[in-house]
Amino acid sequence: MSTFLDWLAERAADRDRQGLRREVRPFKSGELVDLAGNDYLGLRRHPAVIAGAVAAAETYGGGAGASRLVTGTLELHEELEHALARLTGAPSALVLSTGYHANLAVLTSLADAETLIVSDAHAHASLIDGARLSRAAVAVSRHNDLDHVRELLAGRTQPRAVVVVESVYSVLGDAAPLGALADLSQELGAVLVVDDAHGLGVVGERGEGGAAQAGIIARDHVVVTVTLSKSLAAQGGAVLAHAAVRDHLVNTGRPFIYDTGLAPAAAGAALGALDVLATDAHLPAAVRANAALLADACGVDTPAGAVLSVTMPGPAEALAAVAVAEERGIRIGCFRPPSTPDGSSRLRLTAHADHGPEVLDHALDVLRGLVTRA
Ligand code: PMP
Repeated sequence: MSTFLDWLAERAADRDRQGLRREVRPFKSGELVDLAGNDYLGLRRHPAVIAGAVAAAETYGGGAGASRLVTGTLELHEELEHALARLTGAPSALVLSTGYHANLAVLTSLADAETLIVSDAHAHASLIDGARLSRAAVAVSRHNDLDHVRELLAGRTQPRAVVVVESVYSVLGDAAPLGALADLSQELGAVLVVDDAHGLGVVGERGEGGAAQAGIIARDHVVVTVTLSKSLAAQGGAVLAHAAVRDHLVNTGRPFIYDTGLAPAAAGAALGALDVLATDAHLPAAVRANAALLADACGVDTPAGAVLSVTMPGPAEALAAVAVAEERGIRIGCFRPPSTPDGSSRLRLTAHADHGPEVLDHALDVLRGLVTRA
C-alpha cells in the first residue's frame, strides 16, 4: 500500500513531467528590476506609507485583536473605508483582511442555491472559489463576450443572477466592457460584481479605478471589490458598494464575520498610499506610460492598466525566457497552466510608476531580445 509521502511524490513527479513545478524563493529587491510584482505605483517603500504603518502600529498595536464585530473594528478601519469611498466615488466601503476575502464574502453573501453566477472565463481564482462556496449554479461566459453573458442570463431558470468580471484582467491585462455589462446586468435583473484589483490606482485620472472611470460604481446593482496589496502597497481588501450591500455583508459575510480585523499597520500603510495618490497626481499616468513602453518592446497592444502578457509557445520556452531575463537583471512573471485561463503559457509583465528611464531602457532592451528569441 502506498504511503501518504508516496502519494505526494507521485504528484510532484507528475508536475515535473509537465514542466509545471513551482517554487517559492525570496525576491531580493535591489538586485533585480521588478517587472513582475504588483506594486504598480512603486509606493511600498514610500516614506509616507512606512510612516502610516509605523504610526498605526504604535497607536493600535500589532493586530486588531478580534473580529470586526467583537472589538476588532478600529477608527483606522473607518478612516480607510471613508478614504476608499472618497477616491472611488463609491457610496460605501467595507475593509476585509485581503482581496481574496472580499471576493469570497461578496459571492457567498450575494449568491445562493437560487442564483445563477455568470462568471467570465478569465476570472481570478478568488472569484471562482467564492462562486463555488456560494452553492449557486455557475455558468462560465466566454471571455469579454457580452452576447454570451446575455444568452446565459436570459436562459436562466434561477430567479436571481450575479455577473462576475474583473475590470482589468490579472493575467491578460485586458479590460472588461464595464458600462455595457452594467446595462446588460440591470436589464436582465442581475447584480454585477467587478473585481477592480488591477484597476485601482492605475486606471482613471486619479487612479480611481475601472468601475469609477466607467461611471458605474455608484449604481445600485454594482458591487466592486479591490485589494490594498497592489497599487496601495499594503495588504487587505475592500468591498465598495451601496450601503445596503455593506450592511448585508456585515451581517452575513462569513469571511468578514469570522476573520480578525485588518492589521493596523496594513490599514495605516494603505491610508498613507491613498494620501500619496491624492497629492502625486502624476502616478497613474506614469505607470500607464511605462506599460505602453513595455508593450511596444514586446510587440503587444498597449494594455488598459499596468499588466501585460506575451504568449509563449509552451511552458519550457516561458521558463527559459524568465531565466534569460534574470541573468540580465530583470524579474518577469511566468504564467503556466493551471494558472492561465486558456491553457497557454505566458510571460506576464507589470509596469511600475517608479521605473525611470535608466532602469526602463535596459529592461526594454532585454525584452526586445527575449521576444525575438521566442
Ligand atoms: N483579485 C484579483 C484579480 C487578484 O489579482 C488578486 C491578487 N492576486 C486578488 C483578487 C486577491 O487579492 P489579495 O492579494 O488582496 O488577496
